[in-house]
Amino acid sequence: MNKNHNQAKIIIPLCEKCLNNQDKICEKCNKKYAVGLINKTDIRCMRAICEAISNFENINIVIYKIIACSETFLILCSKASKSKLIGNKGIIAKKIAHKIKHNISIIAIPSAQTNENFLNFFKQIFGEQAVDAQITPQTIKITLSEDLQSKYLVKNEYLLKELGRALKLAEIKQKLVVLNIKSTPATQ
Ligand SMILES: [Zn+2]
Repeated sequence: MNKNHNQAKIIIPLCEKCLNNQDKICEKCNKKYAVGLINKTDIRCMRAICEAISNFENINIVIYKIIACSETFLILCSKASKSKLIGNKGIIAKKIAHKIKHNISIIAIPSAQTNENFLNFFKQIFGEQAVDAQITPQTIKITLSEDLQSKYLVKNEYLLKELGRALKLAEIKQKLVVLNIKSTPATQ
């Protein structure tokens, strides 16, 4: 069968068959599912995104992960995909948000691995809590200005795990390491 070359093309960690099959996922995709690289949120949202963009022509996008983050869902994509996912005056982003039924935030994983790029990336997720990023050949260290014990960080730990998975899916080899500094000095 000839493929329509003008159709939207989307690269996600779920094969085309599983994207369209609502009942079950294939063995290959199930391997990613079993190790937590993709989860139900990813599958549901990626199906919704594909539906939302299916009528737009010539859109080539790469999406790595969807992270459910309270009211907002984070869509982690390649650098070149961000503007395409937003669309002219946000038309595509609005469609996606409508399909997912949540607010969305489209965040690009940096293609050039510099400390500055990654600090900007983490600031988009953690806001001013992200105070530093250091990239080494083995690790990406981020420093967050909060106490690990606090409720806020419990939520962020989930976020961090999901972020680690997103980086893996984006074929970033380094391990994500989190350093915490207390926002207020402890008093005795
Ligand atoms: Zn599959």
